Amino acid sequence: MANYIPENILDDILSRIDIVELISGYFPLKRAGRNLRALCPFHHEKTPSFMVNPQKQIFHCFGCGKGGNVVSFLMEYERMDFIEAVKTLARKTGVELPKNEASSKSSGLITSLYKVNEFAVKFYRDFLNSASGAAARTYLSKRSLSNDTVNLFQLGLSPDKWEGLFNYLRTKNASPALLEKSGLVSKGQNQGYYDRFRKRLVFPIFDVKSRVLALGARLLEDAPGMAKYINSPESLIYVKGRHLYGLNLTREAIRKEDYAIVVEGYFDCISVFQAGIKNVVASLGTSLTAEQIRLIKRYTRNVIMVYDSDQAGQDATLRSLDMFIQEDMNTRVAILPVNFDPDSFLRKFEAKAFRHILDNALGLFDYKLGLLSSRYKIINPENKAFVAGAMLDSIKKIRNPILQAEYLRRLAQALDIKEEVLISELRKIKDQKPYDFREFFRIPDSKINPTERLLMRLILGETELITKIKSVLSPEDFQDARIARVFSLICELISKGKDIEPKCLIGYLDDRESASLISEILAADEHSQEDSEEILNDCVSKIKKQRLNLRCQSLREEIKLAQKQGDQGHMDSLVFELRDLLRSGSCLEEVK
Ligand code: ATP
Ligand code: MN
Repeated sequence: MANYIPENILDDILSRIDIVELISGYFPLKRAGRNLRALCPFHHEKTPSFMVNPQKQIFHCFGCGKGGNVVSFLMEYERMDFIEAVKTLARKTGVELPKNEASSKSSGLITSLYKVNEFAVKFYRDFLNSASGAAARTYLSKRSLSNDTVNLFQLGLSPDKWEGLFNYLRTKNASPALLEKSGLVSKGQNQGYYDRFRKRLVFPIFDVKSRVLALGARLLEDAPGMAKYINSPESLIYVKGRHLYGLNLTREAIRKEDYAIVVEGYFDCISVFQAGIKNVVASLGTSLTAEQIRLIKRYTRNVIMVYDSDQAGQDATLRSLDMFIQEDMNTRVAILPVNFDPDSFLRKFEAKAFRHILDNALGLFDYKLGLLSSRYKIINPENKAFVAGAMLDSIKKIRNPILQAEYLRRLAQALDIKEEVLISELRKIKDQKPYDFREFFRIPDSKINPTERLLMRLILGETELITKIKSVLSPEDFQDARIARVFSLICELISKGKDIEPKCLIGYLDDRESASLISEILAADEHSQEDSEEILNDCVSKIKKQRLNLRCQSLREEIKLAQKQGDQGHMDSLVFELRDLLRSGSCLEEVK
């Protein structure tokens, strides 16, 4: 990760290499005003939207949204990871890298959050192994998990205490503010803090580099009115829907087997893995996101989905199927007997039986048509029309024309409708933009809040502005996790007395999303510098207000939940907090 390469070395490398020279070594660039242009190497296009800016030393494609500095370019073009790309550039420029990269200084909020999570995992694992963990260990063995599996997935147990983890992490010198940011603890009444997870089994959620991003937690005994599973809230390092559970342990197997089994839950993933079928990941929750699909696509284009066999599972499967088709992935669906999920199935039957079910997975066409025909009797003409329409919706999304034609033929046969009729219906469906690579590369939530984007653009254009707002805004004020990350990095660099150059900024961030975000903001037309301070103040108060609104909203939700659970004490403290917030909010408005 970025932090393993000391910033001064990275700066040195970046100052010795010219982005135009580097990229021209791969394909020709044409001058166009202040910038240079080319056909984008990352998506198919006929008119060039790939742009290189020699002043700012960045590239950006307006078509697919990829962008960044020289390091990002190598990462994308040569499919290198961050360290590999930096090493390559170091060799090119003759800059020597420190021998022991890992030992070089790492600091900053993001690193601290990873560290705190890691300590939490250790705490929960130790607690599971202590005398107090006996009941939980029995629970796990009743669910057939071996010790090895529990250790490999680093499962733990949170104590039945309000401040168990909090006190432990305080002994590790983590500040309460940091702990609150991690989401491991919440702030209660009277300035006190309490653990988010109590008396629950704990599942660390890792990224592909095995860093702990967040935790999931399950009740040991199902209790009415209590959520069976809860998760860490989103934080600077954790954005829901961007990760797949288990992938850190299973990606090699996925690559080797050249397919991924996608299941829903923690236990499903763990049980399938334990049964020796190691190319499995869990989506955690029902609906897969485009980002999760793109993550799988790095390792394979083939997927077998095995969700619960109930209606909710079927509906989620159908939704995901269409997304997979749109991403040009081959997807099949394995069907479990009624009332089973992969975990309960494997507790009752052997791995061989599960493999058999995988082998008999149905393709999109057969699965969807089978499901629809069982739900709607197609003897009835209205139902027949409905099923045909639903099938055409998916068929329309298929990119491969031969496959599409074949599916149309089979659909005509299955429903006993003339093929020409289906074809003309297919044409009527609103055009899906044939093969839009933009969709494929786009970060699904790249829609940045316009206020946050404007503020970022001002700061990047005039870095002195940051000193003006550092004291009034903090990273958590931003709704976009990428902006928050960039903001906190800028603050950190400024406090170290560093200048902020966009190309260096990109270098310090090891994630592609943030790099593209910066390049996109910078590549956009320059705005007039007039009144930047006034605009800035405007942005700040808008951002504050948005945050306040969001917090109020979520407090209202929490209050409803506490009320439902009859937790009067918790409810009181929430109401108290809400009242406080609303009061400060009205002050904000008066000042404005
Ligand atoms: P178990 O086998 O432990 O009873 P499950 O995995 O079969 O659990 P489901 O209710 O089918 O439980 O949920 C599937 C998955 O969805 C869970 O494993 C969990 O990852 C996720 N999930 C469910 N409910 C929540 C929730 N309230 N918050 C966060 N994640 C949840
Ligand atoms: Mn289950």
